[in-house]
Amino acid sequence: MTTCNLSPEEERARLVDVDRLTSDLESGSDPVLNGIVAMVSSYFSVPTSLVSIIEREYQVFKARVGMEPERTSREMSFCVHDLDKGAVLEICNPATDPRFSDNPLVTGAPFIRYYAGTPLTIQSGRNLGRLCVIDHEARAPMDEQGRTLLRNAAKVVVARLESIHRSHYIDPMTGLPNRQRFEADILQAAEQDDRVAILIEPLSAIALDRLAKSLGREFFTNFMLAVKELLLELLPTGARLYRSGTLGFVVLLSRRTLSISNLVDSVVHAFERPMYCADIPVFSDVGICVLQLERETGASKDVLRLMSSITDTARRSERRWLDYDPVIDSGLRRSTAVLNDIEAALAASDQFRLVYQPRIDLGSNRCVAVEALLRWSHPTLGEISPAEFIPLAETTASIRHITSWVVRRVCEQLSDWHAQGLEMTASLNVSALDLTDGHLFDQLVEALEAFGVAPRLIELEFTESVLVTDFETVRVQLQRFRDLGVGIGIDDFGSGYSNWAYLRQIPATSVKLDRSLLADLQPGNSEWHIIRGLISLVRDLSLIVVAEGVETDLHYHLLRGWGCQQGQGYYFAKPLSPVDLIDWLKKGGGLSEHHC
Ligand code: C2E
Ligand code: MG
Ligand code: MG
Repeated sequence: MTTCNLSPEEERARLVDVDRLTSDLESGSDPVLNGIVAMVSSYFSVPTSLVSIIEREYQVFKARVGMEPERTSREMSFCVHDLDKGAVLEICNPATDPRFSDNPLVTGAPFIRYYAGTPLTIQSGRNLGRLCVIDHEARAPMDEQGRTLLRNAAKVVVARLESIHRSHYIDPMTGLPNRQRFEADILQAAEQDDRVAILIEPLSAIALDRLAKSLGREFFTNFMLAVKELLLELLPTGARLYRSGTLGFVVLLSRRTLSISNLVDSVVHAFERPMYCADIPVFSDVGICVLQLERETGASKDVLRLMSSITDTARRSERRWLDYDPVIDSGLRRSTAVLNDIEAALAASDQFRLVYQPRIDLGSNRCVAVEALLRWSHPTLGEISPAEFIPLAETTASIRHITSWVVRRVCEQLSDWHAQGLEMTASLNVSALDLTDGHLFDQLVEALEAFGVAPRLIELEFTESVLVTDFETVRVQLQRFRDLGVGIGIDDFGSGYSNWAYLRQIPATSVKLDRSLLADLQPGNSEWHIIRGLISLVRDLSLIVVAEGVETDLHYHLLRGWGCQQGQGYYFAKPLSPVDLIDWLKKGGGLSEHHC
């Protein structure tokens, strides 16, 4: 059977256009195309009219009247004939035409006896298929007016296909080409080996979500539009900007045009200034990933996923941008696996457990409290440190589930110990997300009641990063805990940007000096002075000062001498299981010469 006379290369190029312009369009789904076939069939008084697209193996009717099936095999297709030519194909009686007389559509249903089809020619000159009319009776050739109408109707079909395609490739919020467009474009760009993709995410997922929730959708739109304008100003001519998804933007450009690192630095620099939306300054927290496309040829679908997996790491780096690096990505694959398994681990009974590290009063050498620290035995990955999985969980809602698990377990443990005659105070670590609303408070109150534990036996520890996000909300929540009698401890103090103003405004009861300060301690060095200074400042605020990471005799004696009230660290005890803790206490608290 004859098909079209296109060369394999031409046919391949034609099929690329077919895929690009029609693959997403479901048959019969577009009212404009449906209207065109209805109009054409009524003009010619024929029962059948079709928008037929010639794919690899089928002709697919994207719009049709008077035809039951959505497609037929390509071999049966009339429309495929002479598709290399631009002319109207008219067959007045297929039953007597040797090319079609034994075609199953002629010998059987729908018994085609007349066919006229005009090509659907796109800008490149290639034909996607035909707009055709079909009758059960043989007909005389159509007149010139008929041909003109059919040709014009085909032009409308093509314009419609192109416009559907365009709208499918545009991000409605910013009017920029979207992710699908980017993916289609880099397929072509991969052949050019000088292309670079730059993914720019102005805020972390959590911050963006918070922004949209607290200030509303319209504000969020304005923010994204402001970012778009900023980027368009900075990008060189020839660079193409796309919306990469909810979180950000991606640029495609030639490496030859300029120094990529200068460009990216200038973007980072521009984001240092606040962006004004409705007169509200928004500070961005940009993270950028740069990917040289030739290394990724063929992996187009993955490019944005790969890039977005490292923007968070980039955000935390000094320059705020990173070249895509497969090593980082394999680390991220582990992170994703770890993150995915947290919920199941919470539901399982044998994966998470708590260990308790004693906190010692340096005056009396007695254990005055314990800190609950989470441990995870993963079924395949083995022991995973909280230093690894907690920061991951903090990027999602999982951290809340972890905290509520810890809250209940700690209360249960305190009540167990109480039953054994031990009244213990326990501190537990909470994260920023736990303090953004009243959930944690309700959970804690419930657990305290359920296990009959006094609130004063609980202390919440959190790091200062909690205070940076929404200070007022956090302060209100902390005050509720304080009013209940729960202790409030600031963890890892002195490790980041310790802020004294905050310290005075929040209802804290204790401050824990970060263990890195002790780790770097040398007689007379700056840590030496910092620790001394911090101890006296914290004491001036009438807060209890606790040193973390006490490992040596020297630490112990210096801290005591400097007036630090409490200490925690391997010098006294490592984190212990509940049973080991009891043993340790019975033996007088580990180093008995110090403690009891
Ligand atoms: P953190 O709250 O600052 O906990 C103290 C960390 O220091 C613990 O690490 C502890 O094992 C370790 N440590 C204690 N004494 C010494 C010492 O003398 N020298 C040294 N080098 N290290 C010492 P761990 O258990 O690996 O926990 C790491 C971090 O994970 C914790 O830091 C805390 O931020 C977080 N974390 C642990 N459990 C939880 C939890 O239940 N919830 C939340 N949100 N975070 C948790
Ligand atoms: Mg802690
Ligand atoms: Mg700490």
